Amino acid sequence: MLETQHYQCPYCGESVQALLDLSGGDQQYIEDCAVCCRPIVFDLRTDGVDWTLDVRTEDD
Ligand SMILES: [Zn+2]
Repeated sequence: MLETQHYQCPYCGESVQALLDLSGGDQQYIEDCAVCCRPIVFDLRTDGVDWTLDVRTEDD
């Protein structure tokens, strides 16, 4: 199940859209910002229906 969520890049503050795969359960992964190309850490927590997404810089 794929969901889209807008988040704000922790580096440049741009609002970007992420595609979330809720079928994989809790996940942590890194994706480069499409705007400033710096590595954003995504922390996705989901039970397959509801989810919370935290984004932070790699340094935190
Ligand atoms: Zn950025």
